[in-house]
Amino acid sequence: MTNQAKQPCLRVIPLGGLHEIGKNTCVFEYGDDIMLVDAGLAFPSDGMHGVNVVMPDTSYLKENQKRIRGMIVTHGHEDHIGGIAHHLKNFNIPVIHGPRLALAMLTGKMEEAGVMDRTILQTVAPRDVVKVGQHFSVEFIRNTHSMADSFSLAITTPVGTVIFTGDFKFDHTPVDGETFDMARLAHYGEQGVLCLFSDSTNSEVPGFCPPERSVFPCLDRHISQAEGRVIITTFASSIHRVAMILELALKNGRKVGLLGRSMLNVIAKARELGYMRAPDDLFVPIKQIRDLPDRETLLLMTGSQGEPLAALSRISRGEHPQVQVKTTDTIIFSASPIPGNTISVVNTIDRLMMLGAKVVYGKGEGIHVSGHGFQEDQKLMLALTKPKYFVPVHGEHRMLVCHSKTAQSMGIPAENILIIDNGDVVELTPDSINKGEPVKAGIELLDASRNGIVDARVLKERQQLADDGVITMLAVISTDGVMAAPPRVNLRGVVTAADPRKLSLWAEREITWVLENRWQQLSRNSGGKAPDVDWMGVQREIEIGLQRRLRRELQVEPLIICLVQPAPGGTPAYKGRADAEPDTRPAPRGGRGGGRDGGRDVQRGERPERVERSQQPRRELAAVGAAPAPAPAAAASAAPVATPARVEEPEISGRTRRRRSAAAS
Ligand SMILES: [Zn+2]
Ligand SMILES: [Zn+2]
Repeated sequence: MTNQAKQPCLRVIPLGGLHEIGKNTCVFEYGDDIMLVDAGLAFPSDGMHGVNVVMPDTSYLKENQKRIRGMIVTHGHEDHIGGIAHHLKNFNIPVIHGPRLALAMLTGKMEEAGVMDRTILQTVAPRDVVKVGQHFSVEFIRNTHSMADSFSLAITTPVGTVIFTGDFKFDHTPVDGETFDMARLAHYGEQGVLCLFSDSTNSEVPGFCPPERSVFPCLDRHISQAEGRVIITTFASSIHRVAMILELALKNGRKVGLLGRSMLNVIAKARELGYMRAPDDLFVPIKQIRDLPDRETLLLMTGSQGEPLAALSRISRGEHPQVQVKTTDTIIFSASPIPGNTISVVNTIDRLMMLGAKVVYGKGEGIHVSGHGFQEDQKLMLALTKPKYFVPVHGEHRMLVCHSKTAQSMGIPAENILIIDNGDVVELTPDSINKGEPVKAGIELLDASRNGIVDARVLKERQQLADDGVITMLAVISTDGVMAAPPRVNLRGVVTAADPRKLSLWAEREITWVLENRWQQLSRNSGGKAPDVDWMGVQREIEIGLQRRLRRELQVEPLIICLVQPAPGGTPAYKGRADAEPDTRPAPRGGRGGGRDGGRDVQRGERPERVERSQQPRRELAAVGAAPAPAPAAAASAAPVATPARVEEPEISGRTRRRRSAAAS
């Protein structure tokens, strides 16, 4: 075993794209060379509030950036190129080789991100061979997919040749006439392929994937029969589909209006590079298209996935400035929802139907086919390349398992197949395939700026805000440890039946408790005029206490932000509420204390739970704490809060809130 470990091997490490559809990112490693294949993004799932984009964790690449020799791009879909501009902010990539169309789309993203100087873009043509580092040479083999200008790769390494399919289906009548270069696959199959990494997206679907061209007559029928306007939505990046729709508009005597940034961008790029042929006068600006008769217009737009800000979604909500639905409209969904988007898509369809439009959607209509091969396509790939080892990629777990069964049915032994996860390391030698020690893999969540990384703590805070709202609390405490004014409590988005005055009372109790029980630890007499107080510690203790109490008493878990305003020593103490009834609530389940404020006894001195909070508000608070107000100004600074005890009316949010179970333990 030890000898085998020392034998040089090819390491293939997917950092994304496994057990998911999205963010395909693969690392090839031999000796001192690292070559990347694609770097995509994924879209957030429910609950990732304010997250726009999901990226793979690239710690491994950051640590090994000196060894990165170059990148290969298979095609221009977002799940293959969407991460590149972001990664270039973190590490350089000496050169990126890829198809013309994909690199043209990448250029736009790189310009936007200001990283044009971080790499060199090299376009390739079919059958071009490029060398990356000392050990890799890569041939680009033309394949067929829903995106134009797409490639499979033959990667020759010191241990043998690896075929990396990229996204593919076998389409023998492609819209652009660029057929799959099967002869080249067969050539490598004859020479001997060490390992095949193959697209598993549709491994559960039997048969051959229908050709893209097969949607043409169905779309034609719907467009020619439409009485009024035709509105079509599809992926902007489905170049072939868009090209057919433009052809059909021309054939049916309709002018085309385009809506949605990506639709405009992709069509402009594709026409510029010759991937789409359409006369200039086919297009009419959206403002002028209203002047044409409805029967002579076709609107092509984004929104096929129900994305809230896309053109069709806004139209369905009546929020689009230029386009309103008419009852004579025919609206065609020429795409199927990506898993996870189904609900937003059906909601959009419902809204459009309620506005009276005729909506054409769904599998039975023949208006959409996949860009990924079915089982028989996958078998053909295996048959042509005849690999010794096989690794199914690009798919969720069950798809990988299904694809591995297909391979076994064609005679590849189970022990020659690896099903792997992101971060797993495939180690290949001429006569072995093994899983090595995994590397760090995971996700990075980016917000709208695409710069700010949304970490787990930020996400948890956003979840808390969304579920239970926020409570802010202002406490005035003197440097000698007395509460100098009643706390001010403010609620946003918190639903509670509790008397607002009670909340204020609880806040007072928490402050008092901290001053009585924690003050010794939190303040130090360092010989100066005033003691040295750990104001952040005070804030944290108050927050934790109030958090626990709200969870126990009200079964809510809002985000709590406590601001402490320091007052100078000697400020008279605020006495607390004389009229407040004693807190006689019984101790919570399992609580031992039974007397006054029984629940408190349970926590006293231990408070095991810590409330996770981001550092940011802390820093602001630290600034408050760092500069205790000087004596004369202090009264003034405390003045705004020294008003009679008042809790602002809680704002009842109209939104349905997820009920939490009373987990007070
Ligand atoms: Zn693709
Ligand atoms: Zn893909």
